[in-house]
Amino acid sequence: MSEAAAPARAYEYIVVGSGAGGGTLAARLAEAGRSVLLLEAGGDTTDSTAERLPEDYEVPAFHAFASENPAMKWDFFVRHYEDEERQKRDCKYTEQRGGVLYPRAGTLGGCTAHNAMILVYPHNADWDHLEQLTGDRSWNAANMRKYFERLEDCKHRPLKYWTTKLTGRNPSRHGFGGWLTTEIAMPMEALGNRYLRKVLEESAVDASSQIGERLKRLRWFFKTRGDPNDWRLVRANSFGLRFLPLTTKNHVRVGSRERGRSVAKKFPDRLRIECDALVTRVLFDDTNRAIGVEYLKGERLYGAHANPSNDAGERRQAHAAREVILCGGAFNTPQLLMLSGIGSAEELKQHGIEARVDLPGVGKNLQDRYEISVVYRMKENWQMLAGAKFSKGDDQYRQWDNKKKREGVYTTNGGMLAVIKRSKQDKLPDLFCLGLVGKFKGYFPGYSKLIAEHHNYLSWIILKARTLNNAGRVALQSADPRQPPKIQFRYFDEGSDKQGKDLDAVVEGIQFVRAMTHDLRAQGLVAAEELPGDESRSEEQLNEFVRDNAWGHHASCTCPIGPREKGGVLTSDFRVHGTKGLRVVDASVFPRIPGFFIVSAVYMIGEKAADVILAETK
Ligand SMILES: Cc1cc2nc3c(=O)[nH]c(=O)nc-3n(C[C@H](O)[C@H](O)[C@H](O)COP(=O)(O)OP(=O)(O)OC[C@H]3O[C@@H](n4cnc5c(N)ncnc54)[C@H](O)[C@@H]3O)c2cc1C
Repeated sequence: MSEAAAPARAYEYIVVGSGAGGGTLAARLAEAGRSVLLLEAGGDTTDSTAERLPEDYEVPAFHAFASENPAMKWDFFVRHYEDEERQKRDCKYTEQRGGVLYPRAGTLGGCTAHNAMILVYPHNADWDHLEQLTGDRSWNAANMRKYFERLEDCKHRPLKYWTTKLTGRNPSRHGFGGWLTTEIAMPMEALGNRYLRKVLEESAVDASSQIGERLKRLRWFFKTRGDPNDWRLVRANSFGLRFLPLTTKNHVRVGSRERGRSVAKKFPDRLRIECDALVTRVLFDDTNRAIGVEYLKGERLYGAHANPSNDAGERRQAHAAREVILCGGAFNTPQLLMLSGIGSAEELKQHGIEARVDLPGVGKNLQDRYEISVVYRMKENWQMLAGAKFSKGDDQYRQWDNKKKREGVYTTNGGMLAVIKRSKQDKLPDLFCLGLVGKFKGYFPGYSKLIAEHHNYLSWIILKARTLNNAGRVALQSADPRQPPKIQFRYFDEGSDKQGKDLDAVVEGIQFVRAMTHDLRAQGLVAAEELPGDESRSEEQLNEFVRDNAWGHHASCTCPIGPREKGGVLTSDFRVHGTKGLRVVDASVFPRIPGFFIVSAVYMIGEKAADVILAETK
């Protein structure tokens, strides 16, 4: 039976958006016996015949190409600065679009369909802060860990798996039976290749000598082999060299798409996934209870799509007997709330929208990492990339495509070495430095081409966690649900970090990376530092470089949990203030951006929300 002809059915829950938050939640609710309709604006594109699919989705090394694949991508163009002159100084600025590219995925699985698959556990302080803010003890760090254990199926600590199985003791607190497989990938060529091995060894030794507290780090290392998600390291707020756990299964990407599809297959009567369904507003009864949603049925209806359709789409409604849960992500969930009359009454009026709940916090408090790259051109090409075209059919693809024993550089996301460090500006580790084999200096249209075209680059990406800037915002551009919202991050001096601590920390990160690569340069392995470049040496020059070139890709916090009078949008159990039967479960719920890599925290709140919702209906 076609979807158009399907009989209207009342579901208990409607979940909007199938990303890290929504996919996780919808699957868990259905598994627990609830009937759920999961509405997703994008298609299940990996099933399509679109160019470079499914390989862009599946192959870990193709993640940058996935984020630029026209069948999956939603391109937002955001402002880092309101000031046009300042904004223009960023070479990534696309003037015709009035902003800097911010990739998102409008497809089944959301941004888990194109992200770099890095799963790094957040800081315990992130959860404890939520407990303090809300007085809700279920947010405390020790309790939250159980959600990670529930969702993870850790394959990279086999010894821990067996000791846990045999002794019942699990000090690492990894999960070994969840739905999200984690693996590590380090191609044997990387270790077998003398040149790359030397680069890695030199960097590791230099990083070690820069960080200090050697004994402590050695102890951590021998306990966990550099596993950033081992509970003992998380609890100790540890720092030092780390490997990168990836969400892959037999070195193929996995995420909320696989989770949703497998539960829908097992329980077709409970979970219905409807793609190409752009939700345009929440429907309410007279008591402000959410009773369903209105949506447009059709392909490519959202304006951020690479090739947006002019088709009007078919207007439909779906009804929820219990609740509507918004999981559209940090840009789309506030947009949807505002389109539904929930937001600042004054701002809604400007777009002709009548306020149902005057909730000025909606869309405010936008936060992100600050990221910057130190880009080195190496003297020699990386051998493991010889002839690599980053497409189907090259030797590296053939190595990856051997299903019995997937190997080679395409099993990795390009990241070879990671270092966690605490800057002088923070009490906790706040810098994550990732050494990537490839040329990467942030996002702009066509950025992924650089990776395929150059085989002699090492980019050290510095991610600054725990930002003090929460001045960013998402606002409606118009009342048209197909038009993306206005997104302003208000970086550095335009933001709320008046002492400039974030900027100082990022600059410290660059100086650290330079110190780490000092010996490589001394030995003549590096041809040139292309970015920031040798001409940027003084602190003032580095400040300018960071202000002009920084970017982020973990947008969050735009519908924060917290008291309404302090700009909060949600209660501690994810309910939208002033409404009934309406929750938000995605990256927008955090009052402060969690961890170094956000997706672990978003998956975890998907699991937590399911617990909260199910407990209420027992
Ligand atoms: C290029 C890139 C690489 C990244 N790499 C990493 C990484 O390696 N590690 C990490 O931790 N994080 C990474 N992230 C970030 C991380 O993937 C996201 O923060 C996370 O997926 C957010 O989850 P979410 O549920 O809030 O939203 P999303 O995963 O974005 O899901 C939202 C979903 O809602 C749908 N939707 C939106 N509006 C509507 C509507 N009106 N109607 C119906 N559906 C709608 C969207 O199509 C989308 O599928 C990366 C992000 C990017 C952009």
